[in-house]
Amino acid sequence: MVDIAQRREAIEPREILQEGDANLRITWADGRVCNYKAAALRRVCPCAQCVNEWTGQRTLKPEVVSDELEISDLNIVGRYALNFRWSDGHETGIYSFQYLRDICEQ
Ligand SMILES: [Zn+2]
Repeated sequence: MVDIAQRREAIEPREILQEGDANLRITWADGRVCNYKAAALRRVCPCAQCVNEWTGQRTLKPEVVSDELEISDLNIVGRYALNFRWSDGHETGIYSFQYLRDICEQ
């Protein structure tokens, strides 16, 4: 059962820090630190406008997201996810902690 406990711990953020306008740093409960760029996060937005719900195929074209994209606002959803409002006005993506951690590991 130790495995499961460690896994659960891994997807709990200990600290969520916005650095400047376009960078986010998450320190996880297991000590891992992940750095994210706003544009990179926006390009993997998991919402229904950016991904076809039925096929799972990404409909958002990466080139439409500016490298200069900024984080306008950031909210914690329940105890499991983050919701961003980006400087391009998009705000429907719910990024679960598990998803954010997976992005970081890739
Ligand atoms: Zn989206």
